[in-house]
This record gives sequence, structure tokens and C-alpha cells, in this order.
Amino acid sequence: MRYLSTRGHPDRKQFCEILLEGLAPDGGLYLPEHYPQVGDAMLTKWRGLSYTDLAFEVLSLYIDDIPAADLKAICTKTYTEQVFGTKEIVPLRPLESGLYLEALSNGPTLAFKDMAMQLLGNLFEYELARRGEELNILGATSGDTGSAAEYAMRGKKGVRVFMLSPNGRMSPFQQAQMFSLQDENIHNIAVEGVFDDCQDIVKAVSNDLEFKRQYKIGTVNSINWARLMAQVVYYFAGYFQATTSNSQKVSFAVPSGNFGNVCAGHVARSMGLPIDKLVVATNENDVLDEFFRTGVFRVRGSADTHETSSPSMDLSKASNFERFVFDLLGRDGARVKALFHDQLASQGSFDLSADPAFQSAAQRYGFVSGKSTHADRLATIRDTYKRFGTMIDTHTADGVKVAREQVQPGVPMIVLETALPIKFAATIEEALGQSPDRPVRFEGIEALPKRVKVVPADVAVIKLYIVENVH
Ligand SMILES: *Cc1c(COP(=O)(O)O)cnc(C)c1O
Repeated sequence: MRYLSTRGHPDRKQFCEILLEGLAPDGGLYLPEHYPQVGDAMLTKWRGLSYTDLAFEVLSLYIDDIPAADLKAICTKTYTEQVFGTKEIVPLRPLESGLYLEALSNGPTLAFKDMAMQLLGNLFEYELARRGEELNILGATSGDTGSAAEYAMRGKKGVRVFMLSPNGRMSPFQQAQMFSLQDENIHNIAVEGVFDDCQDIVKAVSNDLEFKRQYKIGTVNSINWARLMAQVVYYFAGYFQATTSNSQKVSFAVPSGNFGNVCAGHVARSMGLPIDKLVVATNENDVLDEFFRTGVFRVRGSADTHETSSPSMDLSKASNFERFVFDLLGRDGARVKALFHDQLASQGSFDLSADPAFQSAAQRYGFVSGKSTHADRLATIRDTYKRFGTMIDTHTADGVKVAREQVQPGVPMIVLETALPIKFAATIEEALGQSPDRPVRFEGIEALPKRVKVVPADVAVIKLYIVENVH
């Protein structure tokens, strides 16, 4: 398998090259040259597999530059009951008839990002050791991404993490999760500013190419193909749990921000997994819902990006969306480049409403969408708790709300549970008047000693900190 850029660059690369690279040289995102097809026989063979073996089978279709035995060992080491809490790894739980929750949030940081990030940590360690190289991961987080990255990379050889977060702005639970890590290769840097300041600093450091090269700066953001690929596996695992025969279809409802999670669903569907609808659920930041309803992709500025009670979806520009548009437009890299590089920069939007490709998109790609507000979130959390005794987090509630609008008789609807309620306790208390359950291993983490450096929002200070801590 070779990988190409969504913006038409002529290079074709192998998996391990793009693993550590991030963006393609032309600013595009990597995708496989084609989607391997899984037919009826393969689905039947995969139906009985453990999650680990299923992951190995799916990954083997996309990775041909890691020996099979090594890849198998990486999968076995990653998806364990010890790390993810159950033998099934991603068990389905029924709500009302025809509606299921797929539990993706029982990993180390209680959000679905662990599903991919834990694999990424092991792939990075493997590939860096093979090359005799090191990598310093620089990132900015407002919560879930940073902690998932730190728990995936802690103690890994050849990797250091420098994670910027806005000082005092994460929830107490999220701060405790990150700052209580005592591993030497994990550096928590609390910046006196907001999330945008953190992100600007990461960009400024990454744009200093000489510094980037000398200090081997890399990222783990959601545009990394390996993360997307890891997420494809749980669409298969959810499908097999909800069906008994390959003639059945299911739909998935996915709380969406950067379009990473649901883009993995698009890949699974493109491989031939019998998915009927892919339901994109947004919060008040409804750029994606607007696109799927109207064909207009209109990016908002940070002033128009709302702070909501499902904060991991508070995004104005869904970075993975370019991958879907590439497929939608028949993989025309020049056109994708004109839209995302030129038109978004100059006009802040593009309009595909008149394009036949958009007009047949719902039918060809299965995408539908909907939006959920704070009031919807509270009502959905309350209703789901009252009727089923199941507490769901605010992001998952957005997914359940929109899923209920799109359910079709006879087609199981699987809502991806993207976090556990304990991460967003304040809104749960607002909805239910009681605190969310806390997994035993997180008892008292707010009281643990914290390892964090508070710094001004100054690029030079951050660079100096990195220089002093890489040797
Ligand atoms: C990251 C995140 C999302 C959004 O996922 P995308 O892949 O960015 O669309 C939704 N819910 C939670 C809890 C998250 O952490």
C-alpha cells in the first residue's frame, strides 16, 4: 500500500514514512491510494475474531512495511483487557430498541482518543527504535487530546512529549489526569493564556524549520493517518456485535469536531463494511451540519466559535474534512488544493451545493447530520439516565440526540460513546443533580502531586524549555 496527498503531490509513500510525518509536503493530508475491499467471505472470517486479531487484520491491509509478526505483537500489546477494561475492548450496550452505545472510553484517559493514541505510542516506539531516532512531540490541548497523548507516550523510549495547555482553564479532573504524571519524558507546560495562544506557539515553533529539524519536533494531531486507521477497527467491531449476518446493515452516529472519528467510519464504509448511514452530530459549532445540509462549508473565526458544554467539539475548522472532500470530488487533488488552500484562505468558505457530487453525496456516502444544543444535551442526559439508568457524557449526548432523529426501522443505530461522564462532571450535575460515577482507579487523583511548569505565552520561553530538556 502506498499513500498520496489530498492536494495532488506526485510522491507516493509507505506507511512508516507517513507515520512520523504528519502533513504532506504540499499541506495536504495522506490517504491510501485505494481502499482495500472486504467481501462477504472476509467479513465472515473476521466476525469471530478477538479485537486484537481484528485490529491486526485491518491494519495489515494498510501496512506492508512492518513484518507481520511485529505488527501482531504491537496489536496484542495495545488492545488488552488490562488497559481497556473489558475483554471485548469496545462492548455494545443497548438503550431503547434498535439503539446501542459502543463504549470507546474505557482506556487510560476515559475518552475515545485512547483507542488510536495507545496504538500510535507503540508504533512510534517501534519505528523510532528501528531507525535509531528520537522524536519530541509538541502539542497544544484543551483537554482530551493532550492527556491521551501523554498516557500513550509515557515511559516510551525515544519519545518526549511537550504539551501546552491554557493555565487554569481545563477541568480539575483533566488537570489532575495530566499533571499527576511523573514520567520523565512527559512535560506539562501551562501557558498563561487561552487555547489559541497555545496553538499559535506550536505553529510558530513548527514553522521554524531549522529548530524543528535540530530538535526533532513532531506532532500527534488528529490528521495523522495512523490514528484514523486505528479507529476504522472499532466500526468493524461494532458492526459484528450488532448483527448476526453480513446481509444486515447498521448506522453509526458520531459526535464530531475535527471529523476524525467519523472519517474513519467513511473509510470503513468505503472498504465495504455494510454501513447504511453515517450520522454526523455537532454541538452549537455546526459547521459540519451546515455543510451536509446545504453544501456550503463556512469556517468560523475564533470569535464565532462557541464555548459549549461539549468542549472537545468546539472547533471552527474540521481538519480531517479535507479527506472526505477529496473522495467526494473523485480524488481530484488540484481541485481540493484550490478549495482548501486558496478559497478557504481568501474567502473563508466554499460552496459545493451546485455540484452533482454533493447532490448525490448522501446517497453515495451515507452522510446525514444534525445539531445538538446545551438544552438538548441536558434533556438527553436526563432522559437516558431516567429510562435506562445509563449515565452518558455531554459529547455522547449530542450523538444520542441526533441519532434518535435519524433511526430507521430495522437498521441498528450505534452511537459512539466518546468520553465518560466523569470528565465533564459540572454539566452532569446540572442535568441530574448528582455527581457522575468515578472509576475506582481515579479516586482522589486531584490530590496527587502535580508536575507542571507555568510559563508566559512566549515562543522564546517555550523553545528554551525544550532545548534545556532534550538532553
Ligand atoms: C475529540 C473528541 C470528539 C471529536 O472527535 P473528532 O474526531 O475530532 O470529530 C468528540 N468527543 C470527545 C469526548 C472528544 O474527545
